[in-house]
Amino acid sequence: MSIKVEQVKKTYVTGEVKTHALRGIDLKIKEGELVVILGPSGSGKSTLLNVISGLDTVTEGTIRVNNQEITSYNEKKLTSFRRNKLGFIFQSYNLLPNLTTYENVEVGEYLSKSPLSINDILNQVGLKSEKNKFPYQMSGGQQQRVSIARAVVKNPSILFCDEPTGSLDEDTGKQVLKVLQDLNNELGTTIIIVTHNIAIKDIADRVIKMRSGEIDEIITNDQKIDAKEVSWG
Ligand code: ADP
Ligand code: MG
Repeated sequence: MSIKVEQVKKTYVTGEVKTHALRGIDLKIKEGELVVILGPSGSGKSTLLNVISGLDTVTEGTIRVNNQEITSYNEKKLTSFRRNKLGFIFQSYNLLPNLTTYENVEVGEYLSKSPLSINDILNQVGLKSEKNKFPYQMSGGQQQRVSIARAVVKNPSILFCDEPTGSLDEDTGKQVLKVLQDLNNELGTTIIIVTHNIAIKDIADRVIKMRSGEIDEIITNDQKIDAKEVSWG
């Protein structure tokens, strides 16, 4: 699914204090693209991800997904859009502690009519032999791969990842990124990854650098874009 963000502003008001988290963002993301949003802490990365994914409202501006203006959706329509079309991964894995790997992924599958099988997805993220383990029996990297499997099993059109390697050491983080890159290549899922980890930029089609609520710079990885022939969908 393609995304078009136009003149988006987000201001948080806390008592007397106003925080201009987004100061006028314009951005297009193509179907099948893997975009990385980089920037220092407090630059507005999570806010941008949250407004694009409908987790939070904009103060001004519009967001279109496949030419549908989601910023005009009501709560009910937005909830069903999020549930059916979007996947989410966070820094904390948010797994249910009393469920096995397989069962945690089953939770993700529950509401969807996805053609993907839980076992296929577990193979794809390298957790075939971990499927009967509980979260406490696994490493952080393995737990994050469970959360990826849970998000991906419904075959989301867009996968949103906020600091997916934030709790992992460098090598484990790289393995998790490789899993995301493979999913992007094999399923064609549009993926947006927010991070302040600069090492992540090698897997991106485009890197969006943010600073103080604005887009500072966009760097396109031409070789990857040409090879993938991403479309505007
Ligand atoms: P990043 O993800 O790049 O670290 P955020 O998008 O979380 O940045 O935050 C951008 C700015 O908005 C920061 O100044 C932050 O303190 C502020 N902010 C974020 N969420 C809220 C909120 N719910 N209420 C008030 N201020 C917020
Ligand atoms: Mg953040």
